Amino acid sequence: MNQEREVCTGNIYIENGIIREMDSTRVEADEVIEARDMLVLPGLIQVHVHLCQTLMRGMADDLALLDWLRKRIWPLEAAHDFDSLYCSALLGCGELLLSGTTTILDMGTVNHQEAVFEAINHSGIRAISGKCLMDNAPDAPPALQESTEDGMQETLKLLERWHNQAGGRIRYAPAPRFVLSCSRRLWEEVRELADSLGTLIHTHAAENRDETELVRQLTGQGNVEFFHQMGVCGPRTVLAHCIWLSEREEELLQESGTAVAHCPSANLKLASGVARIPRLLEKGVRVGLGCDGPPCNNHLDMFSEMRTAALIQKPVYGATAMPAEKVLAMATIEGAAILGWDREIGSLEPGKKADLIIINPGRPHSWPRLKHQPYADLLYQVKAEDVWYTVVDGKVLVREGRLVSIDEEHLARETDRQAHRLMTRAGLL
Ligand SMILES: [Zn+2]
Repeated sequence: MNQEREVCTGNIYIENGIIREMDSTRVEADEVIEARDMLVLPGLIQVHVHLCQTLMRGMADDLALLDWLRKRIWPLEAAHDFDSLYCSALLGCGELLLSGTTTILDMGTVNHQEAVFEAINHSGIRAISGKCLMDNAPDAPPALQESTEDGMQETLKLLERWHNQAGGRIRYAPAPRFVLSCSRRLWEEVRELADSLGTLIHTHAAENRDETELVRQLTGQGNVEFFHQMGVCGPRTVLAHCIWLSEREEELLQESGTAVAHCPSANLKLASGVARIPRLLEKGVRVGLGCDGPPCNNHLDMFSEMRTAALIQKPVYGATAMPAEKVLAMATIEGAAILGWDREIGSLEPGKKADLIIINPGRPHSWPRLKHQPYADLLYQVKAEDVWYTVVDGKVLVREGRLVSIDEEHLARETDRQAHRLMTRAGLL
């Protein structure tokens, strides 16, 4: 995923968390990982997930967006305490690392957001996260409603504590939820904060037809037009979904450099629609990929997300649309650029951080092995369980398909316990 898209054969030498040599002839090091006949690639990058929802997997199925939010997700998010949130985030990080994702842009929740950062910190994953902001959501449970002042004050506190922490591996991005839950004043304050500190802004836009219609009734505009008018659009803004856009809004995305987080599985499962990604790409809009939340996917596996992103466009745009190499670029170097991190991650090059994964095509579903064209293998054949090693900042976090930084057996027990307690508190049991 360097500029020339070179595919190399040889050793990779890593020192102090940095890739020093590609195609290296060195054979000695403190640790040598044997990867013969395997594929090494940059760690995958997801530009839209919700770690706070991992524990809600299987608790909100077969619903459309607004019912999904009001009947299930908001009551469950409102019922989180520190321990259930920590468990949810740790489970999410574990699943992401096991399936080859090394970097995420995460939307947090309204309360106890500290727990999400603690879990990110513990797991070793690279992440940008932020407390979710909802200062104008009368239809949400009281526990998720807060004043603009309280939301911004908590945002500042968390930002001071976590932005650029863990050697720069953790960053903060304010995360107003979507137009229907935020006041104009909140959008203005978030924009000012992001401008003054150079952070991203992370939110949702134009996910569902009814939601887009409500936004139009409320503001007289489409989502992106509204954001553009509020000064929220720009190269450091990431909008999840962007399915229901006017032609003018597609142009506004391109003109402003605003990035789109495409989440095809969630868009299919919530029956939201299919974003016109090939058309956006042709116009020059920046697009990355994400699995969104486990209750609308139902997993965080980027290999299946890449495959879906490619396949759903082909019946409309033709078999050559969304070619494998392009989709892999969206999941690596282009995702890194959207997060403002492409100088350090997103490709395997000397001087970049050692965020990489090793794929072991050792099972029949990916045979025959070692063809001349690895991109199609990676997109259409490889599965999450083929991830053999995951390395972030030079640290091995998955070794031979098992988590290193997280105790899987303890996590399994704790997950069942916390999920039961969460459902009880939310009144769903
Ligand atoms: Zn989302």
